[in-house]
Amino acid sequence: MFDILVVGGGNAALCAALVAREAGASVLLLEAAPKEWRGGNSIHTRNIRSMHDAPQDVLLEAYSEEEYWQDMLKVTGGLTDEKLARLVIRATENCRGWMYKHGVRFQPSLSGTLNLSRTNAFFMGGGKALINAYFRSAEQLGIEIRYNSPVDSLDIQDGQFLAAYVNGERIEAKACVLASGGFESNREWLDEAWGVNEYGEHPAKNFLIRGTRFNNGVLLRQLLDMGADSVSDATQAHMVAVDARAPLYDGGICTRVDCVSFGIVVNKHAQRFSDEGEDFWPKRYAFWGRLVAHQPSQIGYCIIDSKVLGRFMPPVFPGEKADTLEELADKLGLDRNALLDTVAKYNKACRVGTFDHTVMDDCHTEGLEPAKTHWALPIDQGPFYGYTLKPGITFTYLGLKTDETAAVRFNGEASHNLFVAGEMMAGNVLGKGYAAGVGMAIGTVFGMLAGAEAAKSVISEESEKYAAA
Ligand SMILES: Cc1cc2nc3c(=O)[nH]c(=O)nc-3n(C[C@H](O)[C@H](O)[C@H](O)COP(=O)(O)OP(=O)(O)OC[C@H]3O[C@@H](n4cnc5c(N)ncnc54)[C@H](O)[C@@H]3O)c2cc1C
Repeated sequence: MFDILVVGGGNAALCAALVAREAGASVLLLEAAPKEWRGGNSIHTRNIRSMHDAPQDVLLEAYSEEEYWQDMLKVTGGLTDEKLARLVIRATENCRGWMYKHGVRFQPSLSGTLNLSRTNAFFMGGGKALINAYFRSAEQLGIEIRYNSPVDSLDIQDGQFLAAYVNGERIEAKACVLASGGFESNREWLDEAWGVNEYGEHPAKNFLIRGTRFNNGVLLRQLLDMGADSVSDATQAHMVAVDARAPLYDGGICTRVDCVSFGIVVNKHAQRFSDEGEDFWPKRYAFWGRLVAHQPSQIGYCIIDSKVLGRFMPPVFPGEKADTLEELADKLGLDRNALLDTVAKYNKACRVGTFDHTVMDDCHTEGLEPAKTHWALPIDQGPFYGYTLKPGITFTYLGLKTDETAAVRFNGEASHNLFVAGEMMAGNVLGKGYAAGVGMAIGTVFGMLAGAEAAKSVISEESEKYAAA
């Protein structure tokens, strides 16, 4: 029997497996995906948000615990567990040394709208390289890895883990770390959660899944049905506005449309519906998927003019281009008069000061509802560009409630040998909203913690047996 079973093959699972193995435990890792698709959503990532009191390798200046915490407070609107959020924040200061030891390399961020060089450490080669490095290290350390191994169910009695079932096989272990992601790939569950909207539509049917198709939430559902303590709700998620032409799964970051704060976004009636300049893009991009999801037909259109070209990361799909707004409306299938009227009202309301997309500048609208509070420049210089947007779901927040030991809890009681990490518990820290790089921060810190606690539970069980003998 293995000491520790780790369910999942993404960042959180690998961090847990590596730490547990380093502590001396024998570890079996079960990944649902085949080898070529291993790594879950983690393969799509680029960076980890990290606190630091002074410049550190690729991170500039300082990003204090307090500033990080205030950012978390702001994006979640207070729906966060301060103790766990601060635990994550503090641990990000030092985890990069451990990551480096397991083969992860970092690079300075590129400049652009994401404006992250002070707060986020970028992985050299992206999340795919990070995952490959961790798998390599896991193999070298003797962790057993099985692909094509989706765990269908768990045998849990009185809150204690006994075994997992994979393709009919029962696999027992002394402790288990669950790191099998959220339920973002489960379209039926998303539909159930989002239901029917005020227009009689099923909004979730129009969602695209930005990452893996393997995070179906099978074990999350089983645990919730068994009465495990939960956090957040099924409609809360990290949701990005992506190009409507993106594939259903695994479109990754290149389908994101990053020019929202440089222009306006309208719905299918050519009406604006939110402040496009509310905050820096890294703190807002994950809200726009949700905003579009609440519009009729779950569709939006981002409109920019030529002045802002070159200021944002170009999306993989070129936008519609037109010399006039009338022509652009036709190309996007929007009502001409409605779009002209919306742009005219917006242009008239713009109070242009000193445009600077690297600070919260003073270009704003006056007397317009909804306002655009920063980076408001008139849309008046052709050619004009339009991008059709759909909600792209990154990961869901409904998860298992946990504590500083990463234990799964049943009726407030912490399990002695069942732990959780990553998306499956991210809702403890992210009740809603998002700041770029927090997903990998939660997965890394709780993955390492869950691995350490699982190893500790096995080792203390061994020493109790030894003492009793
Ligand atoms: C396009 C994109 C870009 C992103 N960019 C960033 C970024 O730059 N920075 C950041 O912090 N976050 C980013 N994120 C979010 C980040 O990917 C997640 O927060 C993080 O990867 C979660 O790690 P995880 O290990 O919990 O889940 P995952 O990496 O998704 O891993 C879950 C694993 O569980 C496996 N699995 C699922 N069900 C089962 C089962 N029943 N049995 C066995 N295995 C199972 C899956 O195959 C997968 O290997 C991004 C996400 C996407 C989609």
